[in-house]
Amino acid sequence: MAMKAPKGTKDMLPQDAYRWQYIEEEWAKICSEYGFREIRTPVFESTDLFNRGVGDTTDIVQKEMYTFEDMGGRSITLKPEGTSPAVRAFIESNLYAETQPTKIFYDTPCYRYEKPQAGRLREFHQFGIENFGTPSMMADAEIIALGHDFLKRMGIEDIELHISSVGCRKCRPVYRKVLQDYLRPKYDCLCETCKSRFDKNPMRILDCKSPEDKEAVKDAPMMIDYLCEDCRSDFEDLKSYLDAMGIEYVVDPSIVRGLDYYTKTAFEFITTKIGAQGTVCGGGRYDHLIEEVGGPDMPGVGFGLGKERLLLLMEACGHDFGAAPSPQIFLAWIGDEAKLYALNLLHELRGKGIRADMDTKERNLKGQMKYANKLGAEYTAVIGGDEVASGEITLKNMSTSEQTKIRREDLADAL
Ligand code: ATP
Ligand code: MG
Repeated sequence: MAMKAPKGTKDMLPQDAYRWQYIEEEWAKICSEYGFREIRTPVFESTDLFNRGVGDTTDIVQKEMYTFEDMGGRSITLKPEGTSPAVRAFIESNLYAETQPTKIFYDTPCYRYEKPQAGRLREFHQFGIENFGTPSMMADAEIIALGHDFLKRMGIEDIELHISSVGCRKCRPVYRKVLQDYLRPKYDCLCETCKSRFDKNPMRILDCKSPEDKEAVKDAPMMIDYLCEDCRSDFEDLKSYLDAMGIEYVVDPSIVRGLDYYTKTAFEFITTKIGAQGTVCGGGRYDHLIEEVGGPDMPGVGFGLGKERLLLLMEACGHDFGAAPSPQIFLAWIGDEAKLYALNLLHELRGKGIRADMDTKERNLKGQMKYANKLGAEYTAVIGGDEVASGEITLKNMSTSEQTKIRREDLADAL
């Protein structure tokens, strides 16, 4: 039986790879313009990192992790997200002892055991950025601005920035009680998962996708109305910074990034263009995560942006990715002597950075030209005894059929 890719995974075929390369280059470019530097961390980590760094009341930790025991008896997990590994590396390499903030970005595969559907995979890919070490909302505004500008550069229309505040260790417990009091009479209508969240993480109930639960929380009190003075003034700061940069937003109190370590700022970029999986980018502030993972008491803020959803959205917006690069020149040959000559020339052109190609299947001339057409070569040149003797090549422009004679030594420059 023919083998198939595991459920929830996708091959990236050569005809699509250039789209990925396109967004990856643009991503690295904008991050460097904003002063973020790249970090790469392993694909797997100790399971314990995610239990602490993502939080054991979250969907990710409760039901989505790829966890296994390795041959040395260690519990290992394929990374479900990029922030905790970045925090782990930050602490382990003592980066916190250097001048702060630490501004980093990443581009990483992630693994979550989910029900696959459009825009939801088991192996997917994320761009992300983090600012470690800044308590000021300047950092939050910068992170959001980068996400906003990146999506704009990618030609995304019909996307809204939703922002909120999820409070802090001071005001959240107060709100939590208010929310529990509101939900208690509706407890029996909640789904099983939400019943289990009631004590440990009731805010996650606001984020539940089941229709009954959605109905139950319809008129629930919102964190944003219970912020302490500090959180309220930070939220005002954030809005004023976004206003100063001319970035539009919607205050949406239903945005819940239900991790215990999330504090204050929460935001999502949301679209209706790609169906149910409309959150392309989500992030927020996590002032206790670094400490929770064993580091110093230092704040952080960041986001993750799904590359598959980004690409779906770019396609839905009719983004022009340009064409995949094709050969600038294709060399065909007739006869063994010309073959060696052409091979020598091919190698020389490639050495000069020209996209040059030949037929490795050694077809006859007709076959070679058919192949050149298939590759979409811009120019072709047929090398025969005359060309070898004279050192002069006849270049054929494949779109105009125009022919020009050119000295071999001038060929690279002409191309
Ligand atoms: P959702 O509510 O859609 O499950 P999430 O809150 O789990 O999203 P985050 O953990 O914030 O998502 O991840 C950041 C981004 O990564 C998301 O906004 C989305 O673009 C992308 N993403 C998350 N899970 C998947 C997945 N299973 N497949 C593809 N992309 C994903
Ligand atoms: Mg999810």
